[in-house]
Amino acid sequence: MPEHRPGTPGQYYVLESFLWRDFTGVDDWLEWTREHGLARAATSTREIFGQAMALREALRSLEAMNNGERGDDAPARLLNELIESLGVHPVVGPFGDVKLSASAVTGRNAPIASVLVMALDAMSKGMWERFKLCQDPTCRASFYDTTKNGTKTWCSMQVCGARNKMRRLRERQQA
Ligand SMILES: [Zn+2]
Repeated sequence: MPEHRPGTPGQYYVLESFLWRDFTGVDDWLEWTREHGLARAATSTREIFGQAMALREALRSLEAMNNGERGDDAPARLLNELIESLGVHPVVGPFGDVKLSASAVTGRNAPIASVLVMALDAMSKGMWERFKLCQDPTCRASFYDTTKNGTKTWCSMQVCGARNKMRRLRERQQA
């Protein structure tokens, strides 16, 4: 599956990529932060990588809730803890426009703060509900739902959608 699908708003590309990519370790994480212009430090630690993956899991759990799956308040708690520890706060611009900024940021946790601010931006603008997980149990890829009424359930109709239609057909035939 491609990292970005047509129709995803440009300001959410990095967030889309973060939720979609399967990070293999600290080096992979560092490479990703460089690719997206988020890295301010040449190194990252296991601890920072762990925090990034905890944020990713929390956001993916919230994506599952956007699918209508049940969850608990643990992902929201983790996000609120990060907002606290990274010092995320609103900043009012000269014309009354509001942006989020993170004040307690170091070179190493700057990429986490950037991703968190992007997710909060999507949530505050009512765009977050469009971030979902593919309902194909063997896929579970994150995707941005670009359909008008927000009813997309598979990341790709050609691959996962077709596979699920086949599966349902087989189940019906066996029943
Ligand atoms: Zn899929």
